[in-house]
Amino acid sequence: MASDLNDGRPLTLRRWLRHLHDTDRLFVARAGVGLKFELAAVAKCLDGTKAVFFPGPGGHEIPVVSGLVSNRGWIAEALGVPASAVLQRFREATEHPVAWSEVDAGAAPCQQVVKKDVDIRADLPIPTHSEHDSGPYITAGVVIARNPVTGIQNVSINRIQINSRNRMAALLLPRHLHAFFAEAESRGEALPVAVVVGVDPLVLLASQAITPIDRDELEIAGALGGAPLSVVKCLTNDVRVPAQAEIVIEGRFLPGVRESEGPFGEFPKYYSAQEKREVIQIDLITHRRNPIYHTIIPSEMEHLLLGAIPREATLLSHLQKSFPNVLDVHLSVGGVCRYHLYVKLRKHHEGEPKNVILGALSGHYDIKHVVVVDEDVDVHDPRQVEWAVATRFQADRDLVVISGAQGSALDPSTTKVFGAAETHIPRQLQGLGAKMGLDATRPLEYGEYVFTKVIIPGSDRIDVDDFAASDMSDVIHLLESDS
Ligand code: MN
Repeated sequence: MASDLNDGRPLTLRRWLRHLHDTDRLFVARAGVGLKFELAAVAKCLDGTKAVFFPGPGGHEIPVVSGLVSNRGWIAEALGVPASAVLQRFREATEHPVAWSEVDAGAAPCQQVVKKDVDIRADLPIPTHSEHDSGPYITAGVVIARNPVTGIQNVSINRIQINSRNRMAALLLPRHLHAFFAEAESRGEALPVAVVVGVDPLVLLASQAITPIDRDELEIAGALGGAPLSVVKCLTNDVRVPAQAEIVIEGRFLPGVRESEGPFGEFPKYYSAQEKREVIQIDLITHRRNPIYHTIIPSEMEHLLLGAIPREATLLSHLQKSFPNVLDVHLSVGGVCRYHLYVKLRKHHEGEPKNVILGALSGHYDIKHVVVVDEDVDVHDPRQVEWAVATRFQADRDLVVISGAQGSALDPSTTKVFGAAETHIPRQLQGLGAKMGLDATRPLEYGEYVFTKVIIPGSDRIDVDDFAASDMSDVIHLLESDS
């Protein structure tokens, strides 16, 4: 019954949705679910269990999908590896990218239909997600641009607000796309761009890789899929986009132009304030015949996991360079898959956990709190990590605090010092905050059984069905004799 994902053909959004359907993980909604809040509310209810397909959303002829990857197991399936091998697989792909192969215009499904007279508000079914959002947002737009100096591409997902029929505003964090645009703008030039909506989970995952600036993430997508990704040149610029994509918005970031963007409910489950942001002028939209539009519900599992897996892979690789006995890392869901890192360490020296804490905090500026645990603690289980903190940690000896470091600009607690009235914090102060590390490892040597975890022999292997009685009548008889 299940469609075979590993038959050698490249993964596409449609194949992935078909696979989810065949394995009872695709919820098809009734036609006409509302684009304002209602669609996001339904998808949120199914978050973590099923992807959702919305035919005719808000009466629009283009359907919307959401929740393509709800848990780690689904990502492992898309990669064709066991869940325990996901980070290693992702790391191999970043270390051994596969160059894309270009197909001719005309051979690319994403260019089957060309729309020149664009009104994006009417052309695409773009949902409004959260209560105080400024309006409709593209949340699964894979943004591709070329370095104006080298021509090498960058791929990222940026939130994009719809401003008018052919203008959008985007949030550019201080990373690669921002650097490309700063270079173009300093020359007084626009930066050509493509916003691609409706790609498979591997392209989405690759877009979130933490890599050097001149590494085209589409090559990581190729490595994840085990074959060169086929791409096609945009019709109005030189950007190459995945040929199998559903929808491509071609445009330019305009030099010297900023327009209001926000508020918008972001991954930490808080709103980003309205600010002046970079603007994309839309030139053209191309799409497949009968395209499918993808939206990511902010801060739900699809959003959090797509950020977590590439970050974990990078952080594990970064830590293992200095500490080969780091065994695993996990960005917890409660820490919005960004701020809280749990590290599993086979400790050799009593000071080592603190070195690991310092290493982890330098791995990515989003990391705020680090907990280091021993081998017998599952870092993917927050209850076990809390147990280690409860029983192997003393705050006066095992705590590391560093003040005034760079953290996430989207962490609202970093703004506490600015007072209630302050809404516009200078960029160089955004996210300024403290780091904390907890050494929740037990000592290497301890008195008999003091730190020995209690285990009931056999409890990890028992199938209780083997122990069920076949006849319960004697027991029922006993319980009924109540006098
Ligand atoms: Mn990049």
